[in-house]
Amino acid sequence: MTRLSVRNVAVVGGGPAGLAAAEILAEAGLAVTVIERMPSPARKLLIAGRGGLNLTHSEPLERFLARYAPPERRLDAAIRDFPPQALRDWCEGLGQPTFVGSSGRVFPEAFKASPLLRAWLARLDRLGVRLRTRTRWTGWDAGGALALSGEDGPATLQADATVLALGGASWPRLGSDGAWVPVLEAEGIAVSPLRPANAGFTAAWSPVFAERFAGAPLKRIALSLGSGTVRGEAVITRDGIEGGAVYALSRPIREAIEAGGEAVVRLDLRPDLDAAALARRLAGARPKESRATVLRKAAGLSPPAAGLLREAARDLPADPASLAALVKAVPLRLTGLRPIERAISSAGGVTAGALDDRFMLRTRPGTFLAGEMLDWEAPTGGYLLQASFAGGRAAAKGALAWLGER
Ligand SMILES: Cc1cc2nc3c(=O)[nH]c(=O)nc-3n(C[C@H](O)[C@H](O)[C@H](O)COP(=O)(O)OP(=O)(O)OC[C@H]3O[C@@H](n4cnc5c(N)ncnc54)[C@H](O)[C@@H]3O)c2cc1C
Repeated sequence: MTRLSVRNVAVVGGGPAGLAAAEILAEAGLAVTVIERMPSPARKLLIAGRGGLNLTHSEPLERFLARYAPPERRLDAAIRDFPPQALRDWCEGLGQPTFVGSSGRVFPEAFKASPLLRAWLARLDRLGVRLRTRTRWTGWDAGGALALSGEDGPATLQADATVLALGGASWPRLGSDGAWVPVLEAEGIAVSPLRPANAGFTAAWSPVFAERFAGAPLKRIALSLGSGTVRGEAVITRDGIEGGAVYALSRPIREAIEAGGEAVVRLDLRPDLDAAALARRLAGARPKESRATVLRKAAGLSPPAAGLLREAARDLPADPASLAALVKAVPLRLTGLRPIERAISSAGGVTAGALDDRFMLRTRPGTFLAGEMLDWEAPTGGYLLQASFAGGRAAAKGALAWLGER
């Protein structure tokens, strides 16, 4: 009698990285179980789609790859193997065509994540992937089986290979809470501390400014720290500042605060005008016009932008050239990071040295890692999801190759 055996693979974490791994493994004919601690998978993907699911970016691949820090050849290889166009084709294959927005960012035509996720889960179901929700992975037992804790109490699962895709620690109420960090550290696996990425920062606003402008946008600004400058938008919060332009510089700002306790960024409130042109406009204002009118009419500043200028310099310079120079480089002292719970993503994670070229833990053969739990970070713009999808697929391919050798 022939004895048939199907290899059992566990994927822990039902986010984009875990589900991408599950798809590759199931397509290869393996019996795949996805373990997810929440009542349903991919909650962060769903929230990411709330304001428009920015899946990836259409810029040239070399520029795309340069967005990741620290640069890492394995993540690079994973994205080259499943680049942005492949992700777009994959979406199309699920009945969710994509489009390129004006900023080069890529979105599904449906804009939100739910139709894509629904179609994806249906495909996984057809492939035979078992989804075990409300079950938390807590480590390994003495025999190397996965230790689980669910509604029915503790359990173990013996798998021929495992992909861990447990996410970072931002927005923990969506599932990824970073509780895996001490579990892996206890195994001697090096984990760079999880820190907020794509997050806001705190600033010591005056009570009047905070009261009046919390929630107000600063549109079409440029933000600089050192030689890095980004154009975009920011939003004033009660205790600081957040938004796309801030997120794009969040890594150097965070590092400056970690090193010296603060970071002084410069805001250009009129990046479309050079200082000389702005000074000429200011000089042409009527003598009787109030300061507020001059800032609004001649400099074209919105009320929050003008308010920010006054926060930076209570006594605004009288001469047009000095005022123009200030509008073009308003100093803003950032003193702390908003908590990781409110960050879009996490920096830090399992360090590259803990993994071999197949994303397998060197100290625990048969266990592969993927997604945001690894030590890379990237700005918003679709880079986070692209790396999660590509990383999940690469870890699964690593597991297939490893299993194939055994
Ligand atoms: C508000 C918001 C908006 C975003 N918008 C975008 C965007 O537009 N574009 C973009 O590229 N990125 C965006 N992101 C980031 C993106 O969603 C994440 O980078 C991505 O989801 C990471 O995928 P992952 O699979 O590695 O981890 P996750 O999506 O975090 O998935 C990990 C899964 O593992 C589960 N899990 C964790 N621990 C355990 C355990 N011990 N046992 C069992 N299960 C466990 C979690 O419940 C979770 O379901 C956004 C994030 C947020 C918070």
